[in-house]
Amino acid sequence: MEIGKQDQPKAVYDQPPPAYDPQQAFHQHPQAVREPPPPYDGPGARPAAANAPFPFPPPATTTVIQQSVAFVEPPRVGSEPTLLACPYCHATILTRVEVSPSSNTHIMAMLLGCLGGILCIWIPYVVDSCQSKKHFCPRCGAYLGTYN
Ligand SMILES: [Zn+2]
Repeated sequence: MEIGKQDQPKAVYDQPPPAYDPQQAFHQHPQAVREPPPPYDGPGARPAAANAPFPFPPPATTTVIQQSVAFVEPPRVGSEPTLLACPYCHATILTRVEVSPSSNTHIMAMLLGCLGGILCIWIPYVVDSCQSKKHFCPRCGAYLGTYN
């Protein structure tokens, strides 16, 4: 009985250890087989691939394209038809003037109505100097400006 207990562990050590399998070692300890990460050179450092020469040569000169903003300044117009170059059709034209009451015309009518009586309300609506003059191009019909 006692001899059999002593013989049993001896039988285990008599067997050779299992053969070393690298694939099995990789699955058991994957961190030990991987390559270490590249050293950190700081926040401004670029990886080696970024420092490699660019496959295409950089352009010799940098072309700066300045786009002009299409801002058409309204021409200065007076109370009469004005001879000017239309900024839209680029023709030299005499403007067509349309006289129409503006908010200033209504304010003047209210003031005259309060001060001079209700019979004076119509005066600003017939006096050209109390109304606005809108200038249009007779060729292309574009609005060119208002004279108040
Ligand atoms: Zn025009």
